[in-house]
Amino acid sequence: MPLIALLPGDGIGPEVVTQARRVLDALGLDLSYQEAPVGGAGYEAAGHPLPPATLDLAMRADAILFGAVGDPRFDNLDRALRPEQAILGLRKAMGTFANLRPAKGFPGLEDASALRPEVARALDLVIVRELTGDVYFGEKGRRETADGLRQGYDVMAYDEGEVRRIATVGFEMAKRRQGKLCSVDKANVLETSQLWRDVVNELAGDYPEVTLTHMYVDNAAMQLVRAPGQFDVIVTGNLFGDILSDQASMCAGSIGMLASASLREWAGANGLYEPIHGSAPDIAGQGKANPCAAILSAAMMLRHSLGQEDAALRVEAAVAKAIAGGARTADLGGSLSTTAIADAVLAGL
Ligand code: NAD
Repeated sequence: MPLIALLPGDGIGPEVVTQARRVLDALGLDLSYQEAPVGGAGYEAAGHPLPPATLDLAMRADAILFGAVGDPRFDNLDRALRPEQAILGLRKAMGTFANLRPAKGFPGLEDASALRPEVARALDLVIVRELTGDVYFGEKGRRETADGLRQGYDVMAYDEGEVRRIATVGFEMAKRRQGKLCSVDKANVLETSQLWRDVVNELAGDYPEVTLTHMYVDNAAMQLVRAPGQFDVIVTGNLFGDILSDQASMCAGSIGMLASASLREWAGANGLYEPIHGSAPDIAGQGKANPCAAILSAAMMLRHSLGQEDAALRVEAAVAKAIAGGARTADLGGSLSTTAIADAVLAGL
C-alpha cells in the first residue's frame, strides 16, 4: 500500500492539508499516511526545521504532500534554522530536479486573472522548470576588475545530462496532454542555451507524437500574456522558469488555486507536492484559507506518483465544479470557510 508523507508545516499549511486529506479519503483508494512536523513546527518539536525523523519519512514515502512553511516567530533564528530551510533541504536530499506548475483558467474565475477574461479563458499550460542547476548553482563570487571596481559573478552552466532529463519530463508531459512542447531559452546570446537547444532537438526524434517548438525567453514572456492559449507544455531552465512560472500563476488567478509538483524522475516516484502559496500568517487559524491549491496538489500526486490518473481527473473536475458553482473563499471574493470549500469539492466528486 503506497505511503503518503503528510508534512503540513506552518500557518495555513495544516488547514489546507487537512482538507486535501479529506478529499483523498473520499476516493476510497488504498493509501496509508504518516504525518511529521516541518518548518517552524519542526523547530518547535525537534529543534530543526527539517528534523531527521521527518526527512527519513520523506525519503521512505511514495509521495509527499506538503503544506507550507514560514512562521514570523522564527524569523530571527540563524538562517539554517529558519522554517523556509526545510523546503530547500528536502529538495536537496531528494534530488527533485523537475518542478511542474500547471496554470489553468477556471470557468467562473476569469475576473481573478491579471489578463482580460477572453484571454485568460484559453490558459491551460504546464511549466516544467529545471530546479537544481543553472546560474543558481554555478560558481559565484565577488572579485575586482582591472580598474579596481567591485564585480559580482554567477556562472550559468548546464551539462547535456541535466538538459536531457528535464527535457524528457517535458516531452513525456506533452505526450500525455495536447502533444505540444515549447522549449524556452536564449540561444541567440547564451552558449548554455545553444547546448540546451541542441540536446532538446536530439531528443525530439524519440517523441514523433510531440510537436516541438523553440522560443526565446523574452518572446515567451510576451506571448504568455498576449496569447497564453498557444502553449501546452513549456520546458525551461531554472532562471527562466523561476520568472515565467510566477508570471503564469498571475495569468491563472489566485495563489490559492495553484498546485505544484517536484519530481526526481519522470514517473515521479517519491515526488513532492505542494500548493505554490506560503503559510499566509495573516489569515492562519481563521478558517479563511483557500484549500483548492492543496487539493489540486493532491491530484497531481495521484497522477504523477501513484499512477491514479482517473482519480486525479475526478478531483480536478470536482474542484472545477465547485468553483463554477460559486464556491469562493475570501481570496476569490467570497466568504466561504476552508472547510466549506472542501465540502463543495467533496459534493462534486
Ligand atoms: P503567502 O503565499 O503565504 O501569502 C501571500 C498572500 O496571499 C497573503 O495575503 C495570504 O493571505 C494570501 N494567501 C496565500 N495562500 C492563500 C490561500 N490558500 N488562501 C487564501 N489566501 C492565501 O506569501 P508570503 O506572505 O510572502 O509569505 C508568508 C510566509 O510563507 C513566509 O514565511 C514565507 O517565507 C513563506 N513561504 C513559504 C512557501 C513554501 O512553503 N513553499 C512559499 C512561499 C512563502
